Amino acid sequence: MKAHLLAETHEVFNQVPPLDGANLYRVDLPLQEWTRRYQGGWAEARIDAYGALAGGELMAAGFLANENKPVFHSHDRYGHRIDLIEFHPAYHQLMSAAIEHGIPSMPWTEPRAGAQVARAAMSYLHSQAEAGSGCPLTMTFASVPALKLQPDVAEQWLPKILSTQYDPRNLPLEQKSGATIGMAMTEKQGGTDVRANTTRAYPVGAAGPGQAYELVGHKWFCSAPMCDAFLTLANTDKGLSCFLLPRHRPDGSRNELYIQRLKNKLGNWSNASSEVEYRGALAWMIGEEGRGVPTIIEMVALTRFDCMIGSSALMRQALTQAAHHCAYRQVGGRVLNQQPLMQNVLADLALESEAALALTLRMGKALDNPTDERENKFARLVTAVGKYWICKRAPAMINEAAECMGGAGYVEDSILPRLYREAPVNSTWEGSGNVQCLDVLRALSKEPGVLDALFGELGDGHGDARLKAHIQRLQAAFRDTGDIQYRARQLTEDVALALQAKLLLEAGNAMVSDAFIASRLGEGGRVYGTLPRGVAAEALVARSTPHLL
Ligand SMILES: Cc1cc2nc3c(=O)[nH]c(=O)nc-3n(C[C@H](O)[C@H](O)[C@H](O)COP(=O)(O)OP(=O)(O)OC[C@H]3O[C@@H](n4cnc5c(N)ncnc54)[C@H](O)[C@@H]3O)c2cc1C
Repeated sequence: MKAHLLAETHEVFNQVPPLDGANLYRVDLPLQEWTRRYQGGWAEARIDAYGALAGGELMAAGFLANENKPVFHSHDRYGHRIDLIEFHPAYHQLMSAAIEHGIPSMPWTEPRAGAQVARAAMSYLHSQAEAGSGCPLTMTFASVPALKLQPDVAEQWLPKILSTQYDPRNLPLEQKSGATIGMAMTEKQGGTDVRANTTRAYPVGAAGPGQAYELVGHKWFCSAPMCDAFLTLANTDKGLSCFLLPRHRPDGSRNELYIQRLKNKLGNWSNASSEVEYRGALAWMIGEEGRGVPTIIEMVALTRFDCMIGSSALMRQALTQAAHHCAYRQVGGRVLNQQPLMQNVLADLALESEAALALTLRMGKALDNPTDERENKFARLVTAVGKYWICKRAPAMINEAAECMGGAGYVEDSILPRLYREAPVNSTWEGSGNVQCLDVLRALSKEPGVLDALFGELGDGHGDARLKAHIQRLQAAFRDTGDIQYRARQLTEDVALALQAKLLLEAGNAMVSDAFIASRLGEGGRVYGTLPRGVAAEALVARSTPHLL
């Protein structure tokens, strides 16, 4: 026998064709339908173009940006302090694509019906390719309403923040074509409890809004430290106040902002998260003195919305990969997605993904209507409900999707391990789970009109007896105020499920809404793959499987 024949150990078969290069918008029927439903259809050509980019070159860049973590350089070769973070070119490619396509700016530069929804759709596509870069992108996007509270500072910064040019150079603002913004609130002694912040602000001359201060203190978490400026909190004699702290002073010299080290994180590897110290760093007061929390909440509300988008996106990418895998992989001579138990699992994952998307884009619609009081109340509540519920569902859902792919889903060559590592951060940062649930109680009990906006939205169950009964139970649960903090997670979960059920019913696809209600408000189990009998599992799987569309 010839030697080369001996070398041929086996034929490779029953492996899945790669999904490389798929347009992530075109393979996602629910995204198309929900974007159109909430008036984002006018931007479809742009979203479609971004879908091609996200599934192609940005997907490839995502792997590189995570395999090559950012590196911190405290000093240059001559010993000068430089505080620079070096990123792989793939990270810059991701940032550049997102900024050029308006992901941090579109709703502010093109305000019209559906702008928030269209931007959310593009962000959803971007986060599927790579989620770490989403951190500076969302902070830049979300800084705009907070900065507008200080018009003189906004006038100087907004043109660069809203620019569609990505400029990563470490230069003073005047010399840059675009700027990104970070946020630094968390200190060692308290993240949730920002009122425990010890950082002090001393006026350079006159005190008050728009004035210059020198900040002395630290921040325990400061993500994306290469941003051009940071919204940060520090105490004056009148209490906690909000400041914009740039990397450079007006004379072009470096500001007294010192990066201590980078965090060694569970996931979110492409993104740098640092510890910083302010040693007399110049910063300008934003908004009213002593009202730092309400000022920075303008930003946090939107980053929480982006956590909803981000976690929905991670779930969708996990589903796309699992559904694709199971459409090809055979076990026992039968393709997996034709096997009843796998159909149950995949259909359950598809429902979770679509319900998350529906609530997220409905929230986008509320943000698109800032002059509508009821929509404002809805957004106030759903920011906390959706941030809690969607971010909480993602890790388990992604784990299940990876398991559908067997060993292949546990290996870095597939994107699943990265999606799984990425998922928990969304439920921790921007206010952890309990904090969101307590915020739901605060909004419902203390803010006039929020409870009415919720039950107004839910209506009487939209003709579905199961939803109607669920809403009635929810109303009774809110009337009983005993131990309400102790029950806050259950209440928030019940609100989230009611809203998701209602949105799916309203959208009119009975196959989806019926399966969701039967499993989430009826007899479903505690893990995925426990849909009750009578659900159109095979058709639900087909709806979310790339190659069957
Ligand atoms: C990767 C990463 C990047 C980050 N980047 C930034 C950044 O750029 N800027 C920034 O400012 N911060 C950042 N953070 C910090 C993040 O926002 C905080 O970690 C978070 O807000 C929680 O604060 P903490 O860590 O101090 O936890 P704690 O405040 O100590 O909270 C611990 C736990 O207690 C719970 N809890 C709090 N209050 C209550 C209560 N009353 N009842 C019941 N439970 C409660 C919380 O939900 C949480 O689960 C980042 C965090 C991570 C992981």
